[in-house]
Amino acid sequence: MSESRHTIYFDNNATTRVAPEVIEVLLPMLERHWGNPSSAYGIAREIAGHVENAREKVAALIGAEPREIVFTSCGTESNNAAIASALRAAPEKRHVITTAVEHSANIAFGRELERRGCEVTFLPVSPDGSLDLGLLDQSIRPDTAIVSVMWANNETGVLFPIPEIAAFCRSKGVPFHTDAVQTPGKLKIDVKELGCDMLSLSGHKLHAPKGIGLLYVRRRFKFHPYVIGGHQERGRRGGTENVPYIVGFGRAAELALERLDDEQGRVRALRDKLEDGLLKAVPHTTRNGAKEPRLPNTSNLAFDFVEAEAILMLLDRAGICASSGSACTTGSLDPSHVLTAMGLSPMRARGSVRFSLSHDNTEAEIDTALEQIPPIIAKLRAISPLNPGHPDNENYDIEAARVRHEEETARATGAE
Ligand SMILES: *Cc1c(COP(=O)(O)O)cnc(C)c1O
Repeated sequence: MSESRHTIYFDNNATTRVAPEVIEVLLPMLERHWGNPSSAYGIAREIAGHVENAREKVAALIGAEPREIVFTSCGTESNNAAIASALRAAPEKRHVITTAVEHSANIAFGRELERRGCEVTFLPVSPDGSLDLGLLDQSIRPDTAIVSVMWANNETGVLFPIPEIAAFCRSKGVPFHTDAVQTPGKLKIDVKELGCDMLSLSGHKLHAPKGIGLLYVRRRFKFHPYVIGGHQERGRRGGTENVPYIVGFGRAAELALERLDDEQGRVRALRDKLEDGLLKAVPHTTRNGAKEPRLPNTSNLAFDFVEAEAILMLLDRAGICASSGSACTTGSLDPSHVLTAMGLSPMRARGSVRFSLSHDNTEAEIDTALEQIPPIIAKLRAISPLNPGHPDNENYDIEAARVRHEEETARATGAE
């Protein structure tokens, strides 16, 4: 960020800073190597070479062969393309399975498919954000064209057991796609171990620019293009290649591999320090989602009796960037569809804040956040009409408010 004051950026699941190492290899592609890689002359072949070199690097990040990589414009396109391809491959199959906690790329595409006459099953999750594989078993039908389940949730960091789900889909003969956009640099990715047919990544979640993504398509898996045009990407995605961003994506893939240990060690420790510190310092605060298995960089916390939007505003004034829900739904007043699907009460969902760290964060930033955040929550609670300690609410005691809140939660989750 360009502010003169130091900004503490805890919103890496929304987007990441473009790494200087990425900019370094990207700029010459804009300045000097701007040709079309499909042209016939020598400099074009050289540029095509840069694209293939980047393809090898992103393939290495996920344990794939270079020819299994299709560059796209973003993670959203990759997800849309995977599902559209499966429906095109088996036109008689009109049923799609995904989950209720996917990125809006899948939720909104699923809703669109319903309008086009498909049936879409959005698998529910438990209060800790986990999936019941028995429900997946019950949902698969002879006309199921594809199962698409994300690996890591962008809001809570909760991980789904992709190898099990992939093996199960394979046993049923149903294609399986996973949205792994949140995982590079945080988890070791090996498409062979995962056993998926298709997998999506997005450059801007791993310190490359926005506007570049990829879809891994397993060798010999029948794929139908979504963007139809020229014969680029072996006929799997039309459109002249975004050479500078592809080259940057390749460099970012190398960095993600190099930084995996840092993310799983140091960054995880920073995340835990922040989360444990806030849970301890701020009463009536809970973690959303299972503690494990979870991404090492993500913490989603519910601060009861306050609105996340108000917290984010005061955090912003203190120079701290965080988010409520996902960046794609900010601006709408609806509570996060992910937290709602986990059965959180509307009040608790609306008071939830996501902190997502990266390699760029430091221990000093965590210390500053731990000093700044508790007084911000206390200040907001002092003026919150929901707050039992509010001067207008003298008759409320905190216990009664807690009980009321639990009742509201129970109603929202349909429990007794
Ligand atoms: C960010 C994100 C996407 C969308 O990627 P874009 O490149 O922004 O389209 C998809 N899925 C998940 C889990 C994400 O976090």
